[in-house]
Amino acid sequence: MRFEREIPVKHQVDVCIVGGGPAGCAAAVTAARAGARVFLAEAGGCFGGLGTRGMVPAFMQFSDGINMNADGFGREISDLHREETGIVPGGRGKGFSIRVEVLKRIYDKLMVDAGVDFLFETRLIGAEAEEGVIRAAVFAGKSDLFAVEAKYFLDCTGDGLLSVMAGAPYFKGERKTKEMMPGTLCQLWCNIDWARRPDGAKLKEELNRAIDEGYFTDPDRHHPGIWRVGPTTGGGNIGHAYGLDGTDEKSLTDALITQRRQLLELRNFYRERIAGYEEAEMILTADMMGVRETRRIDCEYNLVVDDFRARAVFDDEIGRYSYPVDIHRDARSKEQYETFLKEHLEDLRYKDGESYGIPYRTLLPKCTENLLVAGRCVGTDRQMQASIRVMPGCYITGQAAGMAAALAAKKDTALRALPVEELQAALCGIGAFLPNFKK
Ligand SMILES: Cc1cc2nc3c(=O)[nH]c(=O)nc-3n(C[C@H](O)[C@H](O)[C@H](O)COP(=O)(O)OP(=O)(O)OC[C@H]3O[C@@H](n4cnc5c(N)ncnc54)[C@H](O)[C@@H]3O)c2cc1C
Repeated sequence: MRFEREIPVKHQVDVCIVGGGPAGCAAAVTAARAGARVFLAEAGGCFGGLGTRGMVPAFMQFSDGINMNADGFGREISDLHREETGIVPGGRGKGFSIRVEVLKRIYDKLMVDAGVDFLFETRLIGAEAEEGVIRAAVFAGKSDLFAVEAKYFLDCTGDGLLSVMAGAPYFKGERKTKEMMPGTLCQLWCNIDWARRPDGAKLKEELNRAIDEGYFTDPDRHHPGIWRVGPTTGGGNIGHAYGLDGTDEKSLTDALITQRRQLLELRNFYRERIAGYEEAEMILTADMMGVRETRRIDCEYNLVVDDFRARAVFDDEIGRYSYPVDIHRDARSKEQYETFLKEHLEDLRYKDGESYGIPYRTLLPKCTENLLVAGRCVGTDRQMQASIRVMPGCYITGQAAGMAAALAAKKDTALRALPVEELQAALCGIGAFLPNFKK
């Protein structure tokens, strides 16, 4: 069928951003502070994407152990979070736990103070694009459908949805098998006696024993864990939805139903077998499925794993990052889990002070003119996506996309014609980590 009707244009701005996760917030605040008129639409009821709506309980490393890779917007987030919670971020290999409600308020304040025009409960449903030029994005708000016209559009949906609607090519999953990483429905736990909880190695031993004894209906050896997020509360990142396609509503629906059932078994395992969890309750699961991997937009440059190995430097780099390659494989198989461990813990992991460059070109989707992509679906191969996808990585690409769009608006120039040294100088001006940029 064909659906056609007149809709109002409700906003005309310099920069229209879709998605208010880590990448979208970094982009919006940066662009607005740089003087652009910014509109952002978020499908959920808060900012933060997977780190809030998805209840992901921890940030991964902001630094390479020596340098603050996610400097600028990322540092601001971690400083504000520390001010209220006292949680001090660690260095390389050390994440830190998130207080979700604190993080939601931090994003609210930064967005309001920067003067970003935004709407919650507003979902992108289409784009008016011709020959790679997006004229308008179409949204379904609570009241009705409406359009937003902008000079530049930023795709921060995590899934590259706007890029696809605009005609950009993309990759999805493993090249041959099309396999994607499993998702996880994160949880909130209470009544944990943290003082009596065994260390990670002992917990893993007990998990493997239970698997070997046939305790679980769906045994899964990869068990990221439950992070302490309060005196007796925990944020769970356990359980995997294998075979998930996070771009398909039927697949998401099935995974949500299955995960809620599987998690009950994990709750029973903790209560029956792990010290400190005897009285524990799993009081809430997120209402947003934790999706690790969907599309990777095909950009002017796609980072490849050899760039990780080479600690690559690029003339047009807009940041550097250092998180190891972290592909969750099918850990129902012992061999696949061992492959994960070797890759993540040994082969594709840096020493202190090492990092890879992220070129501006990884944010420029092919076959489009006025679009940038940021966050977990920037131009990469599968292994690099599994490094850059974590939140500090999304702050780096989001911040750069926001600054690029604001500069392009100021100069009234095409995104591909933007002098990259000007972008790098502007990013340095807000604290970005760009050690190879010579001012
Ligand atoms: C289970 C799990 C555990 C993880 N653990 C960690 C961890 O420990 N540390 C870490 O740093 N990272 C972790 N990550 C990775 C990280 O959380 C995400 O990759 C990161 O949040 C991606 O940021 P993003 O801004 O690209 O997308 P998202 O966080 O997914 O945000 C995208 C936003 O866009 C909105 N949106 C999507 N479609 C539309 C639309 N059509 N219209 C309007 N809005 C839309 C969504 O509602 C969402 O708010 C984990 C991920 C998962 C799934």
